[in-house]
Amino acid sequence: MSSASPPVDLVREVRLYVFRQAAETTRVPQPPQIAQALGRPLPAIQEAVSQLAAGKVLILAPNDSNIWSANPFCAVPSGFRVQVAGKTYWGICIYDAMGIAAALAEDARIQALCGDCGKLMTLDIQGGALAHSEGLVHFAVPVHHRWDNIAFTSSTMLLFRGEEHIDRWCVARELPRGAVLTPQQCWRLAHGWYEDKLKPDWRRHNLEETETLLPEVGLSGPFWNLRE
Ligand SMILES: [Zn+2]
Repeated sequence: MSSASPPVDLVREVRLYVFRQAAETTRVPQPPQIAQALGRPLPAIQEAVSQLAAGKVLILAPNDSNIWSANPFCAVPSGFRVQVAGKTYWGICIYDAMGIAAALAEDARIQALCGDCGKLMTLDIQGGALAHSEGLVHFAVPVHHRWDNIAFTSSTMLLFRGEEHIDRWCVARELPRGAVLTPQQCWRLAHGWYEDKLKPDWRRHNLEETETLLPEVGLSGPFWNLRE
């Protein structure tokens, strides 16, 4: 029994609870809290959370069964702060920070530090559009490999003051230059990916849908090849 997969209904119930709690409270609930709230045994909840992680619906903390990110909502404070209606959320990366504004469908102020020099930058989402931005976004890991090590991938999705800051960071980290996006492109990508994440009938976008989204945002070439 313990090795059986949890019922689909429970996995869905856990998903809805986790994401609604994250959206409402800014805090991502962990298995003990989920078990208590849903009145279910902890092992069943842990199994459901594992299944959600396996389905890439959320991300577990390394070497742990706790949720690291019910992405775009990061469970722990990060360098990507998102302020919405007097609440403060955190995203793992600049992409998820924008994803929080998209998922909540609210005006948001995002604050992030330049990945290179640490200068604080601000981006504003108003009325579903990027109303103010600065800097450039750099992704280091080609999208086909993003889940090989999602912690590394996320930690390298950063905002920079400009091209020279990206170049300096790549040299210092001994990483090849990846893809540079304007904040507007990153916003549109995050919006396309995350806008429905809080909806009860959300499902993960399939390959074809993702392949449609990328060129709409002006992203093409080997870095964005999902099939390889
Ligand atoms: Zn910098």
